[in-house]
Parts: sequence; C-alpha cells; structure tokens
Amino acid sequence: MSVPRTWADAEPLRLAGRPRRLVPLVVGYEAVAESVSVHGGSSFRYLMEPVTAVAVVFDEGWALIDGGFDPARVRDRDQRVASFDYENYAPIVPAGDPLVDQVAEAGLDWADLAAAAITHAHFDHTGAARLLGPSQPLLMQAREWRHVNEVDDARMAFLFIDDLVRPGLSIVLLDGDTDLAPGLRAIDTSGHTPGHQSFVVELPDRTVVLAGDAADLHRNVVECVRCGSTVGEHGAERAASAIRRLAELDARPGVEVWPAHDPEWGPWREVVESRR
Ligand SMILES: [Zn+2]
Repeated sequence: MSVPRTWADAEPLRLAGRPRRLVPLVVGYEAVAESVSVHGGSSFRYLMEPVTAVAVVFDEGWALIDGGFDPARVRDRDQRVASFDYENYAPIVPAGDPLVDQVAEAGLDWADLAAAAITHAHFDHTGAARLLGPSQPLLMQAREWRHVNEVDDARMAFLFIDDLVRPGLSIVLLDGDTDLAPGLRAIDTSGHTPGHQSFVVELPDRTVVLAGDAADLHRNVVECVRCGSTVGEHGAERAASAIRRLAELDARPGVEVWPAHDPEWGPWREVVESRR
C-alpha cells in the first residue's frame, strides 16, 4: 500500500471549470433504527434507508462523493457472512452494479473521474475505492484515517480496512475545511465519526451541501437534531456542532442540505422511481 499523502503535497485534482450538475446515485439500502439516524429517536422503529452517492460534474471531469458498499462483499456468501455479521443488519445491493450502472447511464466516463471523496470511512461509504486508478485519489480527512488505523476492533466500528488498503489506491488526507476545486469545498462535520466531512457544491443556480451521515435524514436538519450514532468521548458534542453548522447553511437562501440516507428525500426518490 502506498503511504497516504497530505492535500498540500498532492497534485491538484484533474477538474476544470466549475461544478455544472449533480448526479444523485442510489447504490443500495440498509435497515437502520431511527435512533441511529436521529438522537432521541426510536430504537424500535426501523427505516429502510437508501445508501447514496453523488457525482459532481464539472465543465471537464467529475468527482464522486461516497460510493456505497463494495457489491462483492454482499454477493459472495462467505464475504457477506464474514463482513456483515451484526445483529439486525443486512446490506442490500440491487441487481447489477448500481454505482457502475448509474454512472454509465449518466453518460460519465470513469477515465474522467478526478477523485472520489468519502464523507467518512463506514463500510456503506467506502465501496468506490475498488474502482479507482492510481491517478484517482481517494480523499478523506486525516482524522478519519487515524481513526481507521487506531481503532481496536475495526469491524465493530463499521470499518472495512480492506476497502481502503488496496494495491495502487492513492489516499489523500485533508485537514479540516478544504477547497478541493473551484465550487467544491470539504467542510468539517465530525462527530458521527472523528473525521466526518460534508461537501459544499456551488452549482450555477444553487448551492448543495452533501451532508453525509452528519444528517441521515432531512429531519436532522430541520429540527437541528444530531445523528444518533457518534464515536468517541466528544463525538456527541461534535455531532451537535455539525448539525448546527448544516442547519445554518440550509437556512441561507439558495442553499440545500442533502441528507445522505433519507428515503423520502426528493433526489434519491427520483432515482428509485426511475428504475425498474
Ligand atoms: Zn452511511
């Protein structure tokens, strides 16, 4: 495995111009207790939450935010049993390779992918690392990378290190808020995990903030309620700051915060309803 580089030492991303459009992608599902998504929510009620990703398309080139599960882990029985042996948890990946298929249907070429960025390292977000070439870095926060490497029991922390430790994968580490390209900025929304980040995308007609799991549901944003699942001693308080930051952005004119796992959120629903 190559040693991760810092953003300061990395080449600029192969993106030109500005973000022109977003392509929402639904790449799987998972049943999640409401209390995991919403602090104070029910631990009895389960939601069938979409696992999502977004392609950010520039004048030239595109970037991928998150990437769902690696379908091989779900399709192969031995891998599935070894990977997802959690109480009350089942990953769902619809037929085909939803990420690869939807990217192709959007008319995007993997050769034009400049980078993939993950909001955080949970296994329902790291699956796109398998598709990256050596010149297509995976961007994550340095604090997340440290967490991945320091955690005692990776599986119980919902981390599949094998997704991130691949020959030829180049990892680039960000340190807090970072301008990635004109119109694309990573912002610190830690708490759900130690290095959780969200992405601010300035489109021609509006600004979209891809919240990741700092706001699984739109309800987190409108009610300003933090996520239910946090990591570490200061996780809950950081997650509370993160949701305040996202709610404040959402209140600005022309800004929309997109919750990563909300089954009712329009862009994800449109993807689901357009497919058979
Ligand atoms: Zn997630």
